[in-house]
Amino acid sequence: MNSRTKKFLSYYKPYLGLLCVDLACAFVVSAITLMLPLCIRYITINVLEGNSPHPLSQIYTVGAVMLAMVIIHTLCDMFISYKGHMMGAYMESDMRRELFDHFQKLSFSFYDENKTGQLMTRTTNDILSLTELYHHGPEDIVISILKFLGAFIILMYIDVKLTLIVFLFLPFMAVFAFYFNKKMNIALRVSKDRIGDINEQVEDSLSGIRVVKSFTNELVEKKKFAYANGRFVDSRREGYKSETYFHEGLVGFTQLITIAVIVFGGAAIVDAKLALADLLTFFLCIGILIEPIQRLVNFARLYQEGITGFDRFMEILEVEPDIEDSVDAAEITQVRGRVTFQDVSFKYKEDYGYVLNHVSLDIEAGEYVALVGPSGVGKTTLCSLIPRFYEVNEGRILLDGRDIRDITQRSLRKHIGMVQQDVFLFAGSVSDNIRYGSMEAGMDEIIEAAKKANAHDFIMALPDGYHTDIGQRGVKLSGGQKQRLSIARVFLKNPPILIFDEATSSLDNESERAVQDSLERLSDNRTTLVIAHRLSTVRNAQRIVVLSQNGIEEVGTHEELIARKGVYASLSHMQLTI
Ligand code: ADP
Ligand code: MG
Repeated sequence: MNSRTKKFLSYYKPYLGLLCVDLACAFVVSAITLMLPLCIRYITINVLEGNSPHPLSQIYTVGAVMLAMVIIHTLCDMFISYKGHMMGAYMESDMRRELFDHFQKLSFSFYDENKTGQLMTRTTNDILSLTELYHHGPEDIVISILKFLGAFIILMYIDVKLTLIVFLFLPFMAVFAFYFNKKMNIALRVSKDRIGDINEQVEDSLSGIRVVKSFTNELVEKKKFAYANGRFVDSRREGYKSETYFHEGLVGFTQLITIAVIVFGGAAIVDAKLALADLLTFFLCIGILIEPIQRLVNFARLYQEGITGFDRFMEILEVEPDIEDSVDAAEITQVRGRVTFQDVSFKYKEDYGYVLNHVSLDIEAGEYVALVGPSGVGKTTLCSLIPRFYEVNEGRILLDGRDIRDITQRSLRKHIGMVQQDVFLFAGSVSDNIRYGSMEAGMDEIIEAAKKANAHDFIMALPDGYHTDIGQRGVKLSGGQKQRLSIARVFLKNPPILIFDEATSSLDNESERAVQDSLERLSDNRTTLVIAHRLSTVRNAQRIVVLSQNGIEEVGTHEELIARKGVYASLSHMQLTI
């Protein structure tokens, strides 16, 4: 057994008891289904043909037995349907949780390569297709085999010739069923992809609705949507066509078999080679013989879908996080805040060029350093190496003289606060979003942090104050307001090291001043690394680092660098806005 099969089966482990009862029920259901025609045969031979001395009492007895069997059959069927499905749902939920936990472990490089929409599909649809397989798989196999074998034995017992006639049809029926079932599956898969396209189209158009309307491109969007919508209908057409052939074909085959049995069985009765009761039983058993074929075909579909889903699930689960804590990584608690880059080189991927080349920089604890340079030289990259979002290729980064690779990622990141240009807020209230900085914080701490971030006044002016729902990603707030919430979040976290990556770049002058003011308050007594585009933000820095394609170009105070008449001097001449 390979490791994936083992893994596949391992999800049954917590539910083995349930699985056994489920299979036992499947066994009982199959057995009772086979016994019912035998009861009818018994009544026909012993009672209806006048062979019994006490016909009525015999009818009542057999009737009572059949009633008991039917009740047991129904109860077992109910168990299979309800508990069996729930077993599938539990297993699915276990897998989904495992996948989500794994997502939390994966590194940034993984998210650089994978689209969120696809990952969402994996967590929902792919796993959903497994529930049915986990639940129906074992039970379908048990029921199919038992019913088929049982019906075959009964038919052979009654009449070998008639049974062989029935069996002449079965291979054709099976081939037909598998062929059209396969076509049905393909169509199903295509329409799943197409509905995905529709979703993507709707998501894209609606989230960009402001752009759509401002360019008055509604018609373009409508056309794109109509195209996706039409393709979806086409795929449905194919699906329904195959489905119709499949079902009608199976019904047709069953009818053909019935006619053959009537003709040949009837002839046998005329020749007195077969009893009427036997022909009746024969009819009742044909259905039981054919049903497993349909069931197995259905199982084949479940299996294919489930296994594809499982493979896609495992593909993600088998991705290892790029960056993992070493076994002897230390938890740090007291951090002064000195950050040192020692000859650091970095590239995002093996076959990409280096973004940072032998960069060395020593930032003192509590120092306020500005990082400037043209777009794309690696300022953001440099900052994202400090919390170890990516791993350096060469050289090392030290925190208070200790290599960050010797520190657990959790405790390292607890001591670093980041404020970025693109603020990400979660759906929920204002206070929920600020609390994200420290989940244990009480309301008074949240208000305190908001005050420090110049956010309290505007929050109080919102309809429900701190309880106001901010809408998806904070659409109900302005850029400056969102930024101040994100700063309040960092105030609450209270880290000794701060990174501001173009935190004020997209703001208008007035919001910029409010945000700038709160950022300055935040950076008091903390190591601060600021990436900025505006001279006003940069000039007060204790040290300014100018980064270019060749690495660090110049380091010094505003006055020193102006006097040098180098890159910084010309940048600042252009007001630094690049
Ligand atoms: P800056 O912040 O100075 O504008 P960045 O650090 O964002 O520059 O980017 C530096 C270089 O690295 C750019 O050439 C950019 O295309 C590349 N880059 C940035 N992020 C990634 C990523 N996640 N994967 C691959 N390349 C990236
Ligand atoms: Mg950047």
